Amino acid sequence: MKILVVGSVAYDAVETPAGKRESQLGGAATYFSVSASYFTEVGMIGVVGDDFDPADIEMLQSHNIDTSGLVKAEGKTFRWSGEYMEDINTAVTLDTQLNVFGDFEPELDEACANAPYLFLANIDPNLQLKVLNAMAKRPKMVANDTMNLWIDIAKPVLTELISRVDALLINEDEARQLTGEDHLPDAANAIIKLGPNATVIKRGEYGATLFGDGFSFAAPAYPLERVVDPTGAGDSFAGGFMGYLASVDKVDEESLRTAAIAGSTMASFAVEDFGLDRIKNLTKSDIDERFKAFVDLTRFNPLT
Ligand code: AMP
Repeated sequence: MKILVVGSVAYDAVETPAGKRESQLGGAATYFSVSASYFTEVGMIGVVGDDFDPADIEMLQSHNIDTSGLVKAEGKTFRWSGEYMEDINTAVTLDTQLNVFGDFEPELDEACANAPYLFLANIDPNLQLKVLNAMAKRPKMVANDTMNLWIDIAKPVLTELISRVDALLINEDEARQLTGEDHLPDAANAIIKLGPNATVIKRGEYGATLFGDGFSFAAPAYPLERVVDPTGAGDSFAGGFMGYLASVDKVDEESLRTAAIAGSTMASFAVEDFGLDRIKNLTKSDIDERFKAFVDLTRFNPLT
C-alpha cells in the first residue's frame, strides 16, 4: 500500500443548479481514494453504517482500493447535505450527521501503519491525529485537508495537527478563516509558519495555488462548459496530487508542480457529473488526454 487515507465516507444529499440527489455516495476519503487509485495503491481507514450498500464497497474494490480498514458499525453512515446555489464554488452546508463517525476508534493493521504516504482527509482533526499517531513510523509525506466546521469547533487540535504535516490542502475561504489573513499569500505564509513546508490553496473554478519552499505555482482549473456537481472536487484534487507524488515517490519542486496539475485533472472530472459518477469510470487515456490539455492551457513562450 502506497497511500493510506482516513476521512469521511458518506451518503450526501446535494443540490446544484444542474439538479438534486437525495443520497449519493460521497465523503472525502471516498473521492480521494477513487481519484488516487488511478495513480497508485490506496488503503482506506474509516467507518460506515449498517445502511452502507455492498455495491459501494465493490466499486471501491474494483479500483483496487484496500478496504480492509473500512469497518462496518451499527448505526447510520456519515451524512452530509449541502447546496451550491448562488456560488458554484462554495458549498453551503445544510446538515452534517457524524453518525457512526461519532465514536469511531481507528485501528491500523501492519500494511496501513507502514504506508509511506498518508493523507488525512477531511474529518474530525482528533481522528486525523489518532491515525497519524498510530503510524509505525513517520511516513515520507503526510498531508491533510479540513473545513470550516472543524476550524469553528476544534481549532486547537487542528492547529496541533497542522504543525505535524508536510502539506495542508485547503479552500481559500477556509485558509482565510484559519489564519485571519485575507490576502492569499499572507494566508499561505501563516500556514507555513504553523509547520508545513507546502500548502495548496484551492480556489474552485479559479484553480489552485501551491506555495512551496521558496516557490509558488498556479494550477488552473480546466475551463469546463458545464459544472454539474462540485462536491468532491477538493478531495479528487488531493487524490490526484498525492497519487502522483506516491507514484513517482518523490516530493521535490518539480514533482509538486506536476502533482498540482494531476490534482486539477482529477478535480475537473469529478465535477462533470453528480457524485462519483464520472470519476469512477475513467480510463487511463481519459486522464492522459485531459492532462495534455492542461499542458496546452498553460503553455507559453518566454519574452524575447
Ligand atoms: P469537497 O471535496 O470539499 O467538495 O468534499 C465533499 C465531501 O466532504 C462530501 O462528500 C461530504 O460527505 C464530505 N464532508 C462534508 N462535511 C464534512 C465534514 N464536516 N467532515 C468530513 N467530511 C465532510
